[in-house]
Amino acid sequence: MKTINHIYINGAFVTPHGTEKFGLYNPTTNEKIGEIALGDETDTRQAIEAAKEAFKSFSKTTKAERIAYLHQLNKAVAKRRQELIDTMVLEYGGTLQFCTASVNMAINSFLEMVKTLEKFDFEQQVGQSLVRMEPVGVAGIITPWNASNSFICNKLATAIAAGCTAVIKPSEMSGLQTQLLTEALHEAGLPQGVFNIVNGLGSVVGNEITRNPGIAKISFTGSTITGKTIARGAVDTMKRVTLELGGKSPNLILDDANLEEVIPAAVFGAYMNSGQACIAPTRLLVPESRLDEVNRIAKAAAGKVKVGNPQAADTNVGPLVSAKQYDRVQSYIQLGEAEGATLLAGGLGKPDGLENGNFVKATIFTNVRNDMRIAQEEIFGPVLSIIPYKDEEEAIAIANDTSYGLAAYISSRDTERAGRIAARIDAGRVCINGFSHDPQAPFGGFNQSGIGREYGVFGLEAYLEPKTILQ
Ligand code: NAD
Repeated sequence: MKTINHIYINGAFVTPHGTEKFGLYNPTTNEKIGEIALGDETDTRQAIEAAKEAFKSFSKTTKAERIAYLHQLNKAVAKRRQELIDTMVLEYGGTLQFCTASVNMAINSFLEMVKTLEKFDFEQQVGQSLVRMEPVGVAGIITPWNASNSFICNKLATAIAAGCTAVIKPSEMSGLQTQLLTEALHEAGLPQGVFNIVNGLGSVVGNEITRNPGIAKISFTGSTITGKTIARGAVDTMKRVTLELGGKSPNLILDDANLEEVIPAAVFGAYMNSGQACIAPTRLLVPESRLDEVNRIAKAAAGKVKVGNPQAADTNVGPLVSAKQYDRVQSYIQLGEAEGATLLAGGLGKPDGLENGNFVKATIFTNVRNDMRIAQEEIFGPVLSIIPYKDEEEAIAIANDTSYGLAAYISSRDTERAGRIAARIDAGRVCINGFSHDPQAPFGGFNQSGIGREYGVFGLEAYLEPKTILQ
């Protein structure tokens, strides 16, 4: 059992004013593994003051200096790679495979930002004017639990690249991972106050960051409902806001696709990060004429999904992050049955032998209608909905009939046809024949999946304010 009594302000580990504690539990066993001290509004204000003070000189640093800082951060986090992976598996319950990829992404995000920065011009001639791109100010960074460190590192890397300083509020559920990451970031030796990390509740620390006039920009990743609260709170001080929110991504299987290949990939894809992924392809859209075949292959694939100990290298689905999340997913499985969808695999309850952790069976519903709540709402667990369509037009209409728009997937032997369809899908990212990520390309959502973009130049510009100088 680890007790973490400090938060990180102005380059030092300090005792928070807040007196509340937050318990941390191993999702595989539900045993208590730690406790963190939570910061309060006073702590948050101190962190903001430190970041404001640091901004005075950090905003004047050169591109070369900031590139050097990004390399220092990369090296410092890379040194803790294995510890970060092990702690993420323990505290979060993500599979070893997923946590390894996530920590690698965290480490690489600093180098990706170096690449972006090397090509970026902070001054450009536009028409008759000189346009200077200036750092916006102190960034408030608020992150969720589902890949905590990679979100923190990518957002921090972008803030640093822009010349911004930051106050970071990680998910309170990622306390042990945050502590390790903070130690690593501290060892990178950046000037004090450039980044500050305050553990705390969303309604306390998150709310202060949202409303405090010292914060110029918020970069948030989390649920759509919290994103809306933040956007409302941020408007009073006209903060710039980047919101990376939820999704209910369609996976269009065209009638010419090789079902024996793409359906198992679709099932395993839907269970990425045990289903706790904003980009998970949770709506599988298939030709009605081939539904029986799809059902047969999908059911067989679900039978091959290994649910269990996240530390084992061959586990595909680990426990969900918390007992609360387990209950939420169970209620959606109940709802699917009540709405009249056909349960094809999995279902209510825990898999045999895994009764102590927050394990959910690899679940598939078929004959799902797109207007059912299980097809419209983000479940955030290993639950896939198979939705039949009549023809291509109906497939596109179903894909776009959602309040979200984060990602979409298309499988076809005809990549030109898939490309034409991709142009008609309302989503921030469309992957054709696979599940890939391009760390230099913009990432973000249409509709209620968010506002703005992260990664690469698009991400960097979100931390900059263009100033036009006419003479
Ligand atoms: P959440 O919205 O509950 O919490 C996210 C963060 O916001 C946490 O740090 C939380 O403490 C804080 N918060 C909560 N209330 C707040 C408030 N009133 N003011 C300010 N901050 C507040 O989300 P979660 O449950 O931690 O994460 C899961 C969600 O994140 C899912 O909906 C998922 O789709 C989304 N997500 C999106 C992306 C993306 O890139 N689009 C990536 C990962 C996760």
